[in-house]
Amino acid sequence: IKNNNPFKKLNDEIFVYVARKQKEIEELRRLEQFRREFLADVSHELKTPIFAAQGFVHTLIDGAIDDEKVRDKFLAKAAKSLDGLDALVKDLVALSQLETGEVKMHFETVDIYQITLDVFEQLENTAHARQASLKIKSEQPGGILVKADPQRITQVLTNLIENAIKYGNNGGKVVVSFEEEKKQYIVQVRDNGPGIPPEHLNRIFERFYRVDKSRSKERGGTGLGLAIVKHILNAHKSKITVMSKPDKGTVFSFKLDKAD
Ligand code: ADP
Repeated sequence: IKNNNPFKKLNDEIFVYVARKQKEIEELRRLEQFRREFLADVSHELKTPIFAAQGFVHTLIDGAIDDEKVRDKFLAKAAKSLDGLDALVKDLVALSQLETGEVKMHFETVDIYQITLDVFEQLENTAHARQASLKIKSEQPGGILVKADPQRITQVLTNLIENAIKYGNNGGKVVVSFEEEKKQYIVQVRDNGPGIPPEHLNRIFERFYRVDKSRSKERGGTGLGLAIVKHILNAHKSKITVMSKPDKGTVFSFKLDKAD
């Protein structure tokens, strides 16, 4: 039987329209919620170093400046808070640009082996301060060519290697390895530190999530490093995974396409 009801078609169309609008409203609500939480988190994170620097400077003005020893200590502390604020703002800008898709990736053929050596050099002082050793494990002695944005992939390796040094043991070993797998390379950053408790493992990529807040802050962490890593790798159509064993260490892995 032919359905000749002229209202049926109209009814169906209205139904589809309403459903679509409901979905759009839902999405807007979700975005608004995200924006509100983000703003609350950011204000909270900004307040910490600002209050600290403010406190030291005011104490100096109120008389601590007359005592040479106290003066130097408080100035150094104020400077440290301001450095932390600077790092936080830089990471925030990077993260927000990545999240809104504002940054265009520039894919090139890059030698990730060489990039790792450059990152080791950049982090020489950090590693030295914690007596950590930095090594590469690879089947080839260089020339690991992948398709990647050189600047962004440098950032990924910097964040992972810096974390391995910061949260690894004093005198710990950090190993970056490259392994060929079909058309890709598996890149791993491994440390032999205290590891990450399993209940935290799936949350460490969230912005401002820290396993140990005081340790992260003491070591100059912004809480955004792994969120940035996740976004950059996402833009490379890659995913970061983590494995960790208490007292054995942590391994972060991702894959990159080989350059043709
Ligand atoms: P942060 O600025 O605090 O270092 P990240 O986003 O880089 O922020 O890391 C989030 C948290 O994950 C850190 O605060 C730390 O608790 C934990 N973490 C990251 N890497 C390691 C690691 N290699 N070993 C142990 N814990 C780690």
